[in-house]
Amino acid sequence: KRVITTELIEEDYKIENSLRPKLLSDYIGQTKIKDNLKIYIEAAKQRKESLDHVLFYGPPGLGKTTLAGIIANEMDVNIKITSGPAIEKPGEMAAILNNLQDGDLLFIDEIHRLNRQVEEVLYPAMEDFAIDIVIGKGASARSIRLDLPKFTLVGATTRAGMLTAPLRDRFGVVHRLEFYSSEELVDIIIRAAGVFQVDIDEKGAWELARRSRGTPRLANRLLKRVRDFAQVKYDGRITLEVANFALDLLEVDKLGLDNMDRQILLTMLEKFSGGPVGLDTIAAAIGEDAGTLEDVYEPYLIQNGLLQRTPRGRIVTDLVYKHFGLS
Ligand code: ADP
Repeated sequence: KRVITTELIEEDYKIENSLRPKLLSDYIGQTKIKDNLKIYIEAAKQRKESLDHVLFYGPPGLGKTTLAGIIANEMDVNIKITSGPAIEKPGEMAAILNNLQDGDLLFIDEIHRLNRQVEEVLYPAMEDFAIDIVIGKGASARSIRLDLPKFTLVGATTRAGMLTAPLRDRFGVVHRLEFYSSEELVDIIIRAAGVFQVDIDEKGAWELARRSRGTPRLANRLLKRVRDFAQVKYDGRITLEVANFALDLLEVDKLGLDNMDRQILLTMLEKFSGGPVGLDTIAAAIGEDAGTLEDVYEPYLIQNGLLQRTPRGRIVTDLVYKHFGLS
């Protein structure tokens, strides 16, 4: 596993829950989403109604699960957490829904991975707070409608495009999460350092922030790693020097690139004069599968203006020459 992956990995489990802000006011960044949610929450509370169903989408580690927890907390309701792949049969979904209390929040992570039959249970549930159950078989089969408590569904997905239209249309509130600025990540890192009870100075936090790929999950993971270096090799305090030392050893560079990212860019520079070069050709040159290259490695490079897709193939930008100190 890459240390810079923004997916949830095992070493995150222990830290994630303790680091999750519980209140909207402690949630850093995503200002537009927060402003909107504040109003929806306030209005729903005043009317004593459940909140409209909410869909969050965007890359992993940006705070979708965290927001679901905050909504439940601010609405003062229970949250039940599950995920698309965990619910295999329509009956399982019906049971989950049936066990909810009035006002409860059901959070379904990776909601794009629900199978079709399971998803269809959600349609009447979201729209009319009811499920249809078929009793009996063959000619004597009949469908009865079972009322459900007025719950709120919060869905999260990294792949909004893979959501079916009927499901997407049943969410009253849809928000896309954005990558965080370095300034916001500095705040997140300083807050997390407080929870970890580790001493960090502003410059140390900045160095971590700029290498964290716009992603709080990664910022927290790198902070945890750097803390170990600070403790063992230094006096425990994270300064610029400590952050530089530790992150260089972890091979996460100033742009948050790891060895694989650098290998891709350097191969394009050295073997293909910076491009244009086809995806398959790059993949073969670095010994990686073209699909993985496109889905896992390229997005960050493209997003940060290091790589461009053109009709004639991929090209590296001036930024890459500058980053590697080449002209
Ligand atoms: P996602 O569900 O989008 O994959 P999570 O909600 O699990 O992401 O967030 C990953 C980690 O990042 C959490 O441990 C949380 O503490 C932290 N985090 C995410 N967003 C924020 C934020 N806006 N402010 C503070 N911490 C955050």
